[in-house]
Amino acid sequence: MTTFSDVFNQMDWDDIRLSIYSKTTADVERALRKPKRDLEDFKALISPAAEPFLEQMAQQSAALTRKRFGNTIGFYVPLYLSNLCANDCTYCGFSMSNKLKRRTLSEADIERECQAIKQLKFDSLLLVTGEHETKVGMNYFRQVLPKIKSHFSYLAMEVQPLDQDEYAELKTLGLDAVMVYQETYNPRTYAEHHLRGNKTDFHYRLQTPDRLARAGIDKIGVGALIGLDEWRTDCFYVAAHLHYLERTYWQTRYSISFPRLRPCTGGLQPKSIMNDRQLVQLLCAYRLLNPEVELSLSTRESPAFRDNVLPLGVTTMSAGSKTQPGGYADDVPELEQFAINDDRSAEAVATAVQQRGFQVVWKDWHHAYSG
Ligand code: SF4
Repeated sequence: MTTFSDVFNQMDWDDIRLSIYSKTTADVERALRKPKRDLEDFKALISPAAEPFLEQMAQQSAALTRKRFGNTIGFYVPLYLSNLCANDCTYCGFSMSNKLKRRTLSEADIERECQAIKQLKFDSLLLVTGEHETKVGMNYFRQVLPKIKSHFSYLAMEVQPLDQDEYAELKTLGLDAVMVYQETYNPRTYAEHHLRGNKTDFHYRLQTPDRLARAGIDKIGVGALIGLDEWRTDCFYVAAHLHYLERTYWQTRYSISFPRLRPCTGGLQPKSIMNDRQLVQLLCAYRLLNPEVELSLSTRESPAFRDNVLPLGVTTMSAGSKTQPGGYADDVPELEQFAINDDRSAEAVATAVQQRGFQVVWKDWHHAYSG
């Protein structure tokens, strides 16, 4: 069966990088004039040659976003269920070799977290765990998912990649969306940063969106961890991955995230620094390539940055996030996965969003709306 690995194997990292960096002003101007852009146009729009065109890109991106999504911003919040992990990723505080207190929420803990989150008004939840197949695997998900789903209308997950039949089963228990980021699409760099555990299998991860779409999951999130390798090339691969998925599985919804590396326990310096203007350029380039895709901005970014880029193309945001198990009902900061940058309350973020003329949508989608 064909997967994105087949497409990926035809692509070459160095050729793509060179091609992006050789784009000219004329290429950018042509891309900006086109009503519908392709992946070559996307290369031009993320290239250094497009940096002087940021204002124009931002205006077009904002207009396209309003046309498709109106003046709304979807809010979601992560619920960290466990920080146990059987992998070693050089950039993550939950890595198995990091000495930190490990905790997996019990059913009673989860109930308290759900109640605390409901008080904040959220109805769209992202469940997050480290990747630990035996202790936080299918048995755990079978046990907790239906209970969590009884509180929230939309349930997304960011956990270890699973098999297609497992996703199909979780869908019957209430799972709506799965975020699975490739981290980097350069296999050599991937191997340098994923030292132990199942995550070392580059292609199993790369094919996860194929398995998700075949299992009928409503929404799939893709992305790269910006900073692990040259960001323009990695973000081009994300666009190519999305392009493949949309053409192959047109019934599925897609979202893109663009997390930048943040300090964590045993912190890692980014190999490729992306400044704020470049992040705006990337966000606008994704929108100009794809007017339909959801673009998600997390609390890794600062309050000022989040507020300012809001009108340019973002469609969903997390707010008031706690990145440790038990973070909403208790307060245990030593267990965090990474330091968040926007530590305003969800209410404060909602007020900032409304002050900019946007409506906050606390739920993603309710199945009652379908059919
Ligand atoms: S990034 Fe994920 S898999 Fe890697 S150590 Fe962190 S929690 Fe585990």
